[in-house]
Amino acid sequence: MQKNFELLATDRHSKARRGRLTSAHGVINTPAFMPVGTQGSVKGVSPRELRELNAQIILGNTYHLFVRPGLDVIKRFGGLHDFMNWSGPILTDSGGYQIFSLAKLRKITEDGVEFQNHIDGARAFISPEIAMEIQVLLGSDIAMALDECVPYPCEYDYAAQSTEMTTRWAKRCKEWKRRNGETAKRGLADSPIRPLADSFLFGIIQGATFEGLRKENAQAIVDLDFDGYAIGGVSVGEPEEEMMRAVEWAEPFLPENKPRYAMGLGTPPQLLELIARGMDMFDCVLPTRLARNGTAFTAAGTVNLKNAEFILDKNPIEENCTCEACREFSRGYIRHLIKAEEILGLRLITLHNLHFYLNLMNQARAEIGNGTFEQFRKAFVAGYKTRDAVTVE
Ligand SMILES: [Zn+2]
Repeated sequence: MQKNFELLATDRHSKARRGRLTSAHGVINTPAFMPVGTQGSVKGVSPRELRELNAQIILGNTYHLFVRPGLDVIKRFGGLHDFMNWSGPILTDSGGYQIFSLAKLRKITEDGVEFQNHIDGARAFISPEIAMEIQVLLGSDIAMALDECVPYPCEYDYAAQSTEMTTRWAKRCKEWKRRNGETAKRGLADSPIRPLADSFLFGIIQGATFEGLRKENAQAIVDLDFDGYAIGGVSVGEPEEEMMRAVEWAEPFLPENKPRYAMGLGTPPQLLELIARGMDMFDCVLPTRLARNGTAFTAAGTVNLKNAEFILDKNPIEENCTCEACREFSRGYIRHLIKAEEILGLRLITLHNLHFYLNLMNQARAEIGNGTFEQFRKAFVAGYKTRDAVTVE
């Protein structure tokens, strides 16, 4: 399959776009939501169920897989697709975000990051080149350049220096791919770096909450000519307005014919707002994480099924929802499962929540195609009552 991105439709009333990304493991219609498979598993859901939910692509966390089970194990299984038995596209992050948020004793230099992992404290070092190598060994369809994700809030001087280093790291990732990509193309079909020839590499735009830095960095990263662009350093605890601004500042610099990925976002209304701001791809742990707390997404907002009001409720989580949980079970029963800490309870809510997110993207694509996205967005946002703080892992 020839990898490429086609822009199929643009909305007349907003920056919303409908596109198609063709990867080595299949087609991704955008806007797309990517369920997060943190440790080689989307928590509580099998790959067969993900296919039934029409998940087009999942995200794998490089850091987690690097720490456990480790690359030697995944290599022996022929890469992440075969290891976890998911045959669709996989996007891997660079590992940077988790090194900065989970690992201990980080030492960041121009070369890379030295850290102690959060599981057994073993020391490791990741450079832009090593981050690329790991993602290629995982068999990633979309690899991300290594970046430094600065915390919120962040001093201007630190953010400025860090953003410049992120650009230099992005250049090194690009260079590594160029050098090794040629070898990979000539290589045998079973060479561990063979997937590299067919994979995408996305650059990440940083710049914290500073307009100048965001714009400069967007230009600098776009100048390096990646296959796609991500807005990073969002969803790190900043208010929603700051997050939207970071996207708005970078977006005008992004070429139309490349996919755009807003990292680690967001709530259902936020996804529609980001689509209206020209974003194509999203990943977020909210649907799976909130499910474990008994919280389900509905068009009217989130509901916590632990609440006593649902004890005798014979209705499904959401009327007319076609997911397995809603077709077959009542709120009252699922509430009981959650209260009794039965695994089935969190699985059912997870299935519903993923269905909700994936279906929302499906609807968004149809509305963009019909030229009715803005009405849809406004009606959805107005009807959605709760606005949760976004947390990521
Ligand atoms: Zn449902």
